[in-house]
Amino acid sequence: MEEIQTKQVPCLDCDSTLEVVDDIEIGDILVCEGCGVELEVVNNNPTELDYLYVQK
Ligand SMILES: [Zn+2]
Repeated sequence: MEEIQTKQVPCLDCDSTLEVVDDIEIGDILVCEGCGVELEVVNNNPTELDYLYVQK
């Protein structure tokens, strides 16, 4: 029986905490529910986020 592990990573911009699955991969994109900022996973052990720069 598999159970999805999650961990909590603090947002870079606000006090919200992002809940991410434990097997998240580098390059995955997260959106903060608190401030809407887009964050990219840049490291996975431990999980680190950085701002996602999008050319529009
Ligand atoms: Zn935020």
